[in-house]
Amino acid sequence: MLELLPPPPTDPLWDLTYEFGSDERAERLNLVLGVYRDPSGRTPVMAAVREAEIRLAERSESKEYRGLSGNAAFNRALLAMVLGPGAEADRAAAVQTVAGSGALRLLADLICRTRPGTTVWISDPAYVNHRPILEAAGLRVRTYGWCDDEGGFDSAGVLADLARAGRDDVVLLQGCCHNPTGADPSREDWAALAELAVRHGWVPFVDLAYHGLGDGLEADLWATRHLAARVPEMLIAVSCSKNFGLYSDRTGCAIVLGASDRSVRHAETALQNAARTLYSMPPEHGAAVVTTVLEDEGLTALWRAELDAMRGRIEANRSELTALLGAHGHEGPARSLARQRGMFSMLPLTSQEMLRLRREHAIYGTTAGRINIAGIPADRIPCLARGIAAVLGT
Ligand code: PMP
Repeated sequence: MLELLPPPPTDPLWDLTYEFGSDERAERLNLVLGVYRDPSGRTPVMAAVREAEIRLAERSESKEYRGLSGNAAFNRALLAMVLGPGAEADRAAAVQTVAGSGALRLLADLICRTRPGTTVWISDPAYVNHRPILEAAGLRVRTYGWCDDEGGFDSAGVLADLARAGRDDVVLLQGCCHNPTGADPSREDWAALAELAVRHGWVPFVDLAYHGLGDGLEADLWATRHLAARVPEMLIAVSCSKNFGLYSDRTGCAIVLGASDRSVRHAETALQNAARTLYSMPPEHGAAVVTTVLEDEGLTALWRAELDAMRGRIEANRSELTALLGAHGHEGPARSLARQRGMFSMLPLTSQEMLRLRREHAIYGTTAGRINIAGIPADRIPCLARGIAAVLGT
């Protein structure tokens, strides 16, 4: 049977990561995957997470099944974190998922079960897995633009594109720290997007993967909360991979907001049914860790301080790279970089130039030009700036 299988496509980001793994140059620098690294290049377990794990290990008594929505306390804690304590509580439901990707997939299944073949609009460029997840669930995908010529958010262009989305459509928006560009809408832009959603009737589907790593936790959740307060229905995919550093524990949550209690309960059951046929129930560990942190004032304060420190380091990396690119005479790229937010930035380099960066300078970003700003060890920023400048031609 397996002889019949044609060669399947491989994942472009992981292909580059494997290529990096076999690169023997001492100066090699991996800026491909979206993973936070500390100044020494490690991806540490956060102290609040470590402490929660110790407490959990000490009181662990049973690993019995949790139920179809996973860990109920986790779902409550994430609802309160994302929407604000008590906000929208009477018209929201949350189901624990296998990380942000699992939330995207379950919500895509929910859309398909509600209205097969629905069109979901995604940004161009988008997170590399948005289209595959939506299409695997049986949805149609259309795109709207995202950036202007200078690497910032293209307000007029995005509003014009999304004015073509209709009442039966869903629009996938990243709530903050847009992957791959780092270009985010302003609050005025978000307000205009919310008005457009209300006027045209499309349903916002917000993907939250980097909250806390842009302008701070509350500021990064502002857009999601603003949309939630304006629109009758909304879907939210939440990842705890980056802001709790729980990448391999696969921790996340799918949230639905509906116009009636009845529709929300139906949506919750449909999400459970979708999970049941994919993996039955999500793993407990990461959800228990997050709940332990968020239910304890001291651990929450420690986690928020660590998250702020991570954000501060990303900002410091970004401003040093900006200053050095400016000093190399590349004012335009430096200006774009300075306007962007969060873990990623898109370099204004062609795929050929990204290949040269890899071949000649052992610097690995994605072929499309994305680099992980949070992945640069402190002492390597000058060498990154030199490599980019060399490829850009000075
Ligand atoms: N959405 C976006 C925008 C992402 O960048 C990512 C991870 N890179 C995810 C969702 C999924 O993250 P995970 O499944 O690891 O939680």
